This record gives sequence, C-alpha cells and structure tokens, in this order.
Amino acid sequence: MNYLVVGAGLFGATFAHEAAKNGHNVTVIEKRDHLAGNVYTKEVDGIQVHQYGAHIFHTSNERVWKYVNQFAKFNRYTNSPIANFHGEIYNLPFNMNTFHQMWGVETPKQAMDKLKEQRAEMAGREIHNLEEQAISLVGRDIYEKLIKGYTEKQWGKKTTDLPAFIIKRLPVRFVYDNNYFNDDYQGIPIGGYTNLVKQMLASDQIKLQLNTNFFDQKDKYLEQYDQVIFTGMIDEFYQYQLGELEYRSLKFETEELAIGNYQGNAVVNYTDSQTPYTRVIEHKHFEFGQGDENKTIITKEYPANWKQGDEPYYPVNDQRNNDLFAKYQELAKKDKQVIFGGRLGQYKYYNMDQVIQQALLLTDSLFSSGETKI
Ligand code: FAD
Ligand code: UDP
Repeated sequence: MNYLVVGAGLFGATFAHEAAKNGHNVTVIEKRDHLAGNVYTKEVDGIQVHQYGAHIFHTSNERVWKYVNQFAKFNRYTNSPIANFHGEIYNLPFNMNTFHQMWGVETPKQAMDKLKEQRAEMAGREIHNLEEQAISLVGRDIYEKLIKGYTEKQWGKKTTDLPAFIIKRLPVRFVYDNNYFNDDYQGIPIGGYTNLVKQMLASDQIKLQLNTNFFDQKDKYLEQYDQVIFTGMIDEFYQYQLGELEYRSLKFETEELAIGNYQGNAVVNYTDSQTPYTRVIEHKHFEFGQGDENKTIITKEYPANWKQGDEPYYPVNDQRNNDLFAKYQELAKKDKQVIFGGRLGQYKYYNMDQVIQQALLLTDSLFSSGETKI
C-alpha cells in the first residue's frame, strides 16, 4: 500500500514506523518546519527546550512503554509540580503534603476528617460540573486556592460550565507523595523527544516532507495515495461544514536568564486568577539541571482563545463538542480512504501514551487482519 500520513507527531510517527516495518511505502507530510508535533524539543545551550509546553511521558501500558524505549533511553524524572497561590507554596497533586500545608494536619486520619468536613456541602448531591466534582474530591479550601483560578484561566470558562472529567485526571492520596501521576512508568527521553521521533521515522521506506500543508494540494494527495492517515483537525478536513469544534490555544513566552536556577523545580503552577499565565517551566530541571550552570531557560504558558489559524492545543470535550464530533465521525465512516487519528483527528484529550496506543491498535487491525477501519 501507498500511505500518506498527514502530521509528524506521535500518532503519525507510530503509524509510519509500523507501516514501513510491514513493507509499505509511507510519505509523511508536516506543515510545520520540524517533526515531532507538540512533543518537539529543541536543544539550546545544552538544555532540551520543550517548545510546546512541558511533556512528561507516563504510562501503565507495558506495550507502549517497551515500544518507546526502542527509540530512546528514558531518564527517571518524576513530575512533582509546585503550586504558587499569591506566594503561598503547595505541593501537587493533592496529598498529605498539600493537606499539611493547607490545614496543618499531620496524619492521614486528621486529613480525612478535615476533608470530610470540607466535602460536606456536596454530600448526597449529584455532580454536574467541574466545580462540584472538585469540591466533592478535595473540598472547598483546596478548590478555591488551587483549582478555581487555574482552571478558569486554562479553559477560559467558569468551572460551573466545564465537564467534571477534567479534574478527575489528578490523583488525591493520603501519603506524603508528590508524584503527579499514578502510572507504573514515567520519564523523559534523554536527548529530547525530537530525537525519539526522528528514530521512529528513520527508514528508507518513509519519506518526510516538512513545510507541507495537506490542504494546499488536497485533491492531488487523495488521487495519489491509497490511504490517508490524517492527524490534523477533523472539522478543518471537512471545511467546517457541520460547524466548528471548539479548541483551546496557548501562547508560550520563552526567556533565557543569566542565573543557574530560577525556580528550583521544573513546573510551577500559578493557581490564582490574576497572574495571566498558568505555569512556568524551567527546562533544565527535566534533566536534573544539565547545561550551563550560570544559565537557565524558562517558559511561561498563557492560555488563549482559539480561532481558525491558531494552534489548537486542547480539544474541549464538553457535550456540545462531543456531539458535533460524533457527527463528523459519521462523515468519516463513509470515507474509506481517510483514517483520522491522534488528539486532533479523534478530538480527545489524549496523553502521549494513549496516542501511541491508538496508533498501534490501528496498525494491528490494518496489518494483522486486513481490515481498513477501526
Ligand atoms: P500533534 O503532536 O498535534 O501532531 C499533529 C501534527 O499534524 C502537528 O505537527 C501538525 O502541525 C500537523 N498537521 C496538522 N494539520 C496539518 C495539515 N493540514 N498538513 C500537514 N500537517 C498538519 N501528554 C503527556 O502524555 N504528558 C504530558 O506531560 C503532556 N503535556 C502536554 C502539555 C501541553 C501544553 C499540551 C498541549 C499537550 C500535552 N500532552 C501531554 C499531550 C500530547 O502533546 C499529545 O497527546 C500528543 O503530542 C498528540 O500527538 P498527535 O500526533 O496526536 O498530535
Ligand atoms: N488543575 C488545577 N490546578 C492545578 C493543576 C491542574 O486546577 O494546579 C486542573 C485544571 O482544570 C487542569 C486539570 O486539572 O485543566 C488537568 O491538569 P493537568 O496538569 O493534567 O493538565 P494538562 O497538563 O493536560 O494541561
């Protein structure tokens, strides 16, 4: 088969790698001037700069963990962000350290008693939105200081208008453990994500064309290729004919500073509503301070509204958008030549491991049973 993969992010790269391994020819086109999609890292003064925000690989899927380890060695980085609320510092995710900092409690029993009191306003009530979900998980104090401001900046909506599932991503635990994730495996590829994706695409059967937008020659591509794997926005592919899906965008402001250590941690979240950015990342701490000892690079992450032409970093998976996406999926089902994949093609708030897993399920179904759609 002659495959065209649109997008050189993790979905496209996994698909291309597997297709080439199975003897197919693959052309990968990418509209940006680099590969790796949103996991792109660029080396500056010995520091791997995460160009599109902090990316920490974590998974409990053994197959996916083994898969990525073929292409790079991972370090033992464990994400443990700090929250800054008007100068008060708290550990994340919500654990005994946070409860101690918030209320002075020392034991899990004291923390549970306090939380019970804090959650009481939600007792017996049904959960309809993120605010109610947050209060029923961690109570009002934590909600007001560590969730409300951050979430409303991040999504540009009131917490009462947001779906509950977003906050369920974060662990709540009664041990002194600041690991942000519950997964079995975690780390950052040594040498950066860009190298990892380069390795995935290193095959004579894969041709990569950067600075190439599918929509500039859509008809020609559809004529030339047996099958198209599209990892861009599904609504854009169909010229928004059923309406626009909603996305959240970001602006990144990166600075080089003439000090060795700016904030003492890779990720600091600003959880108040006034600070215009949500988080500041200090890239060298993802690799334990490597690089020049008198220099550091930081990036401030500002949430932004999305309009056509902006980068669509996050799908907004509320009911209205999920329903509209389902209608686009109906269109896609009729179109056997094109398969939609990845965070934008599937319109899902996927992590990296989920994107790779989805691509592997697709290639399993295509290359082992001969089916053409998942
Ligand atoms: P993308 O990486 O978006 O790749 C799609 C590619 O398609 C892009 O390069 C795009 O330019 C290209 N493209 C689109 N349209 C066209 C077109 N018309 N023609 C040609 N090319 C086109 N996940 C984690 O697991 N851990 C984290 O810590 C984490 N942190 C994140 C932080 C931020 C700020 C964001 C936004 C995401 C984070 N993620 C994280 C999620 C992770 O980035 C995604 O799951 C993953 O990168 C998605 O891969 P993809 O291949 O689906 O999409
Ligand atoms: N969140 C929060 N306070 C924080 C960090 C996260 O309220 O300090 C909420 C916020 O709603 C966010 C969600 O938890 O959108 C998921 O956070 P995560 O860090 O997983 O977001 P991502 O890395 O995907 O942006």
